Amino acid sequence: MPPCSFSHKSQADHGVKLISSPNADPRTYICHECVQVAAAIVEESQIARPAQPVPPPPEPPHESPFAQPATADLLYCVESWIAREASGADASSELAQIRNLARLMFVKTNDR
Ligand SMILES: [Zn+2]
Repeated sequence: MPPCSFSHKSQADHGVKLISSPNADPRTYICHECVQVAAAIVEESQIARPAQPVPPPPEPPHESPFAQPATADLLYCVESWIAREASGADASSELAQIRNLARLMFVKTNDR
């Protein structure tokens, strides 16, 4: 059997185990010592590889008046106001309610 293609150690050397290539053309051999060295090099390169960058934390939700629970109330009031106006009735009380809600929402936002 030919010697190791890397270290040229042969099976005749004490304790050397040769591993044959799967292909016969050309057939090459590697000894168990070279396999261990190669494995150590591969392992080291994996350790040396920089860790995957940690993804940045998700952006906090945009501070918007529309992100507040009062938005649902406001939209309800707007809907009532539009319905009132469409019917030709006086919608000033609905409009006042909308203004009041909007003021509360914007004051809350600015205080933060
Ligand atoms: Zn070898």
